Amino acid sequence: MQQHIDSYDFTGKKAIVRVDFNVPLNEKFEITDDTRIRAAMPTLKKVLASGGSLVIMSHLGRPKGVTDKFSLRHILAHVSECLGVDVKFAPDCQKAQAEVAALKPGEALLLENLRFYAEEEGKPRGLADDAGEEEKKVAKAAVKASQKEFVKTLASYADCYINDAFGTAHRAHASTALIADYFPNDKMFGYLMEGEIKAIDNVLKNAQHPFTAIIGGSKVSSKLAVLENMLEKVDNLIIGGGMGYTFIKAEGGKIGNSLHEDDLIPQAKEILAKAKEKGVNIYLSVQTLVADDFSADANTLTVPSHEIPDGWEGVDAGPESLEIWGKVILDSKTVLWNGPVGVFEIPAFAKGTLKIAEYLAEATEKGAYTLVGGGDSVAAVTQMGYAGKVSYVSTGGGAMLEALEGKDLPGIAAIRE
Ligand code: AMP
Repeated sequence: MQQHIDSYDFTGKKAIVRVDFNVPLNEKFEITDDTRIRAAMPTLKKVLASGGSLVIMSHLGRPKGVTDKFSLRHILAHVSECLGVDVKFAPDCQKAQAEVAALKPGEALLLENLRFYAEEEGKPRGLADDAGEEEKKVAKAAVKASQKEFVKTLASYADCYINDAFGTAHRAHASTALIADYFPNDKMFGYLMEGEIKAIDNVLKNAQHPFTAIIGGSKVSSKLAVLENMLEKVDNLIIGGGMGYTFIKAEGGKIGNSLHEDDLIPQAKEILAKAKEKGVNIYLSVQTLVADDFSADANTLTVPSHEIPDGWEGVDAGPESLEIWGKVILDSKTVLWNGPVGVFEIPAFAKGTLKIAEYLAEATEKGAYTLVGGGDSVAAVTQMGYAGKVSYVSTGGGAMLEALEGKDLPGIAAIRE
């Protein structure tokens, strides 16, 4: 049975907490963005303040075995500083029995990178590129078999399990899902996970209407499942960014050199037809800023999105598109934004994305629920200073994307089961 972090009695108990401390480090092993560490603090502090002790576990990067570059030792001092206690360190996540036994209430222990072991992900390592099917099958079976012991060892460290790693919630890994089986009555979400789940439910289950989704970004192929799921939920679907040109081409428009995926034109047509059938209003870009080069000093023109001249490519939404989209957004009670509507990394092409951020902030002020998640729009909204002006900004790119596709995330299911 699932427990709740606010009502669970942590007194004298050891909690093993899966966090996402997969932070970017520079070549001096300094943390360049500690958002993920800070995001886990409310949960970690709650356990300590309630008389419990912490066994903290995470992955860092994609090591293929024990690699100093990916050691969580590099972030230990910063975690201690954020948590306000001297966090201890177990240099091998599978041999931490002594350190765990010595933990007293109010103390915390950080386990070394879980992905130093192949068992965390349950995927074989070191297979030759030309390995045959049989060899792959045997290696997979071997790692799956040893994964059971790996999970059991981690579970033996604690009395209860908390999952607060939304960034890996879409993975059925040892520490994100399998370990929950060992805590049938002592498993719960941390505050960050709770916030993310509530945000997902606010748009997928309990959306107030009108509900508008703005889907942008570079490729239709990476957003196809999101678009299809959104058709079942929304009243209005704004399709912008690089992926919009595939739809414009599917409608017979001339898109010049704009980014597009010809092989996805049939799917784009199908989405447009399905939207009509379901009464979902589709808003493609009507006017586009085009450039003669993919660079900051390129020449630019503002043209109708269906009449982009040869040699020019769409790089941002034009003012007429933004005006139409703005009205739709401001009339909505729920807004989901996934993916920028232009090449926002280049300031000259960021105006459309900034405008969308402004509309979302205004809609939020008017009482709409606004969620930014599952794509580069999260980076855009944060960079542009609008993160605090929308209802929620998701911390998990891939996990949020899969949730928006309508998939059950293993990290969530394992706690709820
Ligand atoms: P995604 O990760 O799918 O949200 O895609 C984000 C990327 O889409 C960003 O790097 C943007 O620069 C890119 N993007 C947005 N609009 C365009 C466009 N018109 N042409 C090329 N790339 C774009």
